[in-house]
Amino acid sequence: MSNLTRLPLTELKGIGEETAKTFHELGISTIYDLLWNFPYRYEDYRMRDLSVVENGSRITVYGEVLTEPTVAFYGRKKSKLSFRLSADGQILKIDFFNQPYLKSKVTLGDAVTISGKWDKNRAQITASKFQSGQKSAEESLEGVYRLKGNMRNKTIQKHVKNALQLFGNDIPEIIPEELLDKYQLIGRKDAVLKLHFPTNDEDLKQARRRMVYEEFLLFQLKMQYFRKIERERSGGIQIDYNVQELREYIEALPFPLTSAQKRVVNEICGDLKSHLHMNRLLQGDVGSGKTVVASIAMFAAAKSGFQSALMVPTEILAEQHADSLVELLAPFDITVGLLTSSVKGKKRRELLLLLENGEIDIIVGTHALIQDEVIYHRLGLVITDEQHRFGVSQRRVLREKGEYPDVLFMTATPIPRTLAITAFGEMDVSIIDELPAGRKNIETFWVKHDMLERVISFIEKEIEKGHQAYVICPLIEESEKLDVQNAVDFYNLLADKWRGRHTPGLMHGKLLPADKDALMRAFHDKKIDCLVSTTVVEVGVNVPNATMMVIYDADRFGLSQLHQLRGRVGRGSSQSYCILLADPKTEVGKERMTIMTETNDGFVLSERDLELRGPGDFFGKKQSGIPEFLVADMVHDYRVLEVARTDALLLINEKNMLTNPEYRKLAETLDELGVFSEQKLD
Ligand code: ADP
Ligand code: MG
Repeated sequence: MSNLTRLPLTELKGIGEETAKTFHELGISTIYDLLWNFPYRYEDYRMRDLSVVENGSRITVYGEVLTEPTVAFYGRKKSKLSFRLSADGQILKIDFFNQPYLKSKVTLGDAVTISGKWDKNRAQITASKFQSGQKSAEESLEGVYRLKGNMRNKTIQKHVKNALQLFGNDIPEIIPEELLDKYQLIGRKDAVLKLHFPTNDEDLKQARRRMVYEEFLLFQLKMQYFRKIERERSGGIQIDYNVQELREYIEALPFPLTSAQKRVVNEICGDLKSHLHMNRLLQGDVGSGKTVVASIAMFAAAKSGFQSALMVPTEILAEQHADSLVELLAPFDITVGLLTSSVKGKKRRELLLLLENGEIDIIVGTHALIQDEVIYHRLGLVITDEQHRFGVSQRRVLREKGEYPDVLFMTATPIPRTLAITAFGEMDVSIIDELPAGRKNIETFWVKHDMLERVISFIEKEIEKGHQAYVICPLIEESEKLDVQNAVDFYNLLADKWRGRHTPGLMHGKLLPADKDALMRAFHDKKIDCLVSTTVVEVGVNVPNATMMVIYDADRFGLSQLHQLRGRVGRGSSQSYCILLADPKTEVGKERMTIMTETNDGFVLSERDLELRGPGDFFGKKQSGIPEFLVADMVHDYRVLEVARTDALLLINEKNMLTNPEYRKLAETLDELGVFSEQKLD
């Protein structure tokens, strides 16, 4: 049997070097590529009753040619061929543009099939397709392919047909019988055939079902395989804490844990205690209590003789975390250190020495934690906060500091589950989907820009109550200048208006990190009443006295980002507000603003964001780690994704798929896809 992934296209009759080159530009180099290059849509040539076809839509009719075709030429190379057709009890006018050669094919009295755009009022068809005789049922749905150069749809069809004839029997079934049976899936060869040449909707549906499952299953097998080798890699440490001791710590907390916190603590502690390597993503909305959970894990590590490192994106955040950890952990004889770039000279040397000697249990810091000069005594647990701010390589360096410590990535960006199990498919995911009791909703309003004056007086009212406010201006990717300009203008407006009364501050990406920190500190210390900022302020800084968040041109942001920004307020005991200033032009834009006013739940918003913007845009950048699927659609087919994931987990972890001959075909396919030779994912 031939391996289709290695057979070049030139094996097919009619494909020479030239054609192969054009195919190559479409990413098609092998017979396998050609067969898996499915149409991206289907043209529907099925006959329907003329009376039900809407004006302006596509139509296919079968009838008799009533008049000799006439051709009128005009302009350069432009022509119109016209004739009358009797069909469905009506006389229709048929026009073909720029296909004068059809004249010899259209013969008076012949039965023909015509497809084109239907002008109901004039009983006319602007035709694009002509065929003598009646179209057979098999031809009524026609796949449309992506094209390059002078390649035509017909040509691709011909080559695919050819390839199927010659090599169709070499398409192996790879999904085990039990799963085919369980889900009533059609065979692989059949599915490929029907995706290219469906005869009806049901064909197409069954073919898609089969291929969507296959794509997701292969992808999830790959992810679960990576997960397994990551978890079981040698040297995974065991943090064998004393359960009773940990319980005492949890009971001493100033509040009871929410049930969601309890659940993720159990998940994390299970990982710590086992010799397996933890590689876990902890998601939880802003304020859901991730830091406390992190403190529990670090407590467990410290009491078992391991050090922990907590890495955060900014110095001020590091200080905040260190402060709250000292408060929580010092009573239990656990030493917390803070390492940032402002810890210098002798103090720094001392700190590093303590760390190296194991006299510090927990170290909190920024990127400073991964510099070469930092040597750990026995690093057992690494936690990063706002994980998306760290690059892949930084995370790896941190991990390599110890002997493969357990790793927990915390993020406050709610990621819809479908995306989480795809983009972070090789990690375990824990979710805190519940806020501590008694939290107030942040009241959110959407107003148009012409309400700006009233918004400013609203800000003034809050300031007069002793509170503080943020005004956020969007990042305009193409032009950082413009972006800064927005913030500058707003700042100037407030500065003029408030002269001597209130103090605005201005923050943007062009400032030096030290200046940004100084500004944040001034805001924190209430020396600034209203901080006007571009999105650099997004990172989780805690200023509980801020009760007002104004977002300028809010429709430029994704829902998740808006939610993230809104989470900067509502951290104290006073009622907080968020005002979205926006004049969205599209319905989707309006809908997004409305959703923001309706819910405070980050996961609900992230699901809606995914629906509205699609997976590609969700993370803002294209390099999101989300694979492109050929047939499957993550949003539309998410149920299948879940099912495939469960099956993959079972196959990899319990059925020993990789060594069990029953699953040889699947294992071979993964091998062909390069899964086993690929370096481990990070
Ligand atoms: P996150 O890091 O997820 O944004 P934090 O851990 O900073 O959230 O918690 C936000 C606030 O809520 C903190 O003041 C924390 O002390 C408090 N908190 C955390 N868990 C609970 C709980 N179970 N009950 C009441 N308050 C809590
Ligand atoms: Mg936090």
